[in-house]
Amino acid sequence: MPAGSMEELVSLCKRRGFIFQGSEIYGGLQGFYDYGPLGVELKNNIKAAWWRSNVYERDDMEGLDASIIMHRMVLRHSGHEATFSDPMIDNKKNNKRYRLDHLLKDQKPDVQKKVAELMGEDADNFAALVAALNTRPTQASAAFKEAGVRDPFSGEVGEWTEPKPFNMMFKTTIGPVADEESYGYLRPETAQGIFTNFKNVVDSTSRRLPFGIAQIGKAFRNEITPRNFIFRVRELEQMEIEFFCAPGTDEEWHEHWLEKRLKWWEDQGVPRGKIEILDVPREDLAHYSKRTYDLMYDYPTLGHEEIEGIANRSDYDLGSHTKAQGELGLVAKVEENSDSIAKLTIPHPETNKPVVPFVIEPSAGVDRAMLAVLSEAFTKETLDNGNERIVLKLKPHLAPIKVAVIPLARNKEEITSVAKRIKAELQGLGLGRVLYEDSGNIGKAYRRHDEVGTPFCVTVDFDTVGKGEDTALVDTVTVRDRDTLAQERVKISDLGAWIQNKLR
Ligand code: ATP
Repeated sequence: MPAGSMEELVSLCKRRGFIFQGSEIYGGLQGFYDYGPLGVELKNNIKAAWWRSNVYERDDMEGLDASIIMHRMVLRHSGHEATFSDPMIDNKKNNKRYRLDHLLKDQKPDVQKKVAELMGEDADNFAALVAALNTRPTQASAAFKEAGVRDPFSGEVGEWTEPKPFNMMFKTTIGPVADEESYGYLRPETAQGIFTNFKNVVDSTSRRLPFGIAQIGKAFRNEITPRNFIFRVRELEQMEIEFFCAPGTDEEWHEHWLEKRLKWWEDQGVPRGKIEILDVPREDLAHYSKRTYDLMYDYPTLGHEEIEGIANRSDYDLGSHTKAQGELGLVAKVEENSDSIAKLTIPHPETNKPVVPFVIEPSAGVDRAMLAVLSEAFTKETLDNGNERIVLKLKPHLAPIKVAVIPLARNKEEITSVAKRIKAELQGLGLGRVLYEDSGNIGKAYRRHDEVGTPFCVTVDFDTVGKGEDTALVDTVTVRDRDTLAQERVKISDLGAWIQNKLR
């Protein structure tokens, strides 16, 4: 069962209504995608599976939905204003702009080797080479010229500027007064909303260490080179947990979350064998991280790329916001008016003394999850009759449509009315989306539902309504299984329980 290439996935997504280019009718906006009728269902199902597993099935987690636009001070004191940047480099010949490491990755091995040689670095240590290029920009520009680094757009050797940092946060004005202070940022990660609400959640839930706060929401990154379909976008969605624990227990919790997250991916149809665990080298760690495991999924065409980061953020964020509150005089102000301590501390579970907790952060991208789940499910099969079919073997809980109910004749009221009644009854069971499908012939309907991963098609025919030859089949329907293609006759009165049982 050959899996699909990235091209085949992109084509299926557009053809069947999973994913469209953003602002497409005006030529599209690079790095922005819209989720269509089936995409929104799949996305919601992935998010629901994550929430169920990380919030409902645990006893140490709370949920949150914080606002997207944040006070500039939050992003200043989180370190993002100063450090949330990627190195960019321009080609003066055509004014094209690239992310330095992406540009280097796109070069032939002998060019990469030459750049490394000229920089006095080891070509096999890519991270160290990129770091050297960043810290020695004049030498970097000269090395790019001498090694003949080509522009991926024109294919010609570029005239390269010195690399410089480009901050990836989207800034926006707030309110009608556009003075210098009236701006905020679209959050580049959902995490900061959790840190700024840490005290509110602790005070309103009486949580004690260890415990976590989970959030799913949009984040925005002005990526220099958005690419590879929904893999690298400028508007993304994240599923993040900040798990707070006592200092000294952080390493143990880090291992706990690594295991938990790998198991979750497996439950969504993304096997462990397809994920490499990268213990991120020190020079590559984000400014807040003590240690990070990146889960690198083997994407079609792209190879191993990050699907989730599991970071030990230490006490960096809460510590930094606490310090800033003190410096800005905010702690004293809050303390005058309330009994709670504004400092972002919590009693240590053993000593009861206030402590800034350590944080483990599993952070997964919804868009990258969609791509992985779709790619694992995408299957091409040759049937016994020699025909080829494309089928999305999605886990049933993720399938955008759980059941399609198909009337065999769409102009026969006695058949359509039964099909509509069955649709309504199945919908009432809370399985997820059930579709009444009378848009074409039965063969086409089956093909369409194979391609979008509908686990079951239910067909109402003449026998069902007593107008066929076999009277034993009255009040029964045919149920077709997406994966085995087996067709079974099931009593309408048993259908709901039959399907619920199979979906489970
Ligand atoms: P990368 O190195 O690929 O740029 P990152 O290390 O910056 O990713 P994190 O800051 O760890 O990513 O973000 C957590 C998760 O958010 C990532 O594992 C990924 O799933 C998702 N993510 C981050 N940036 C993007 C993006 N531009 N488009 C889609 N998803 C993203």
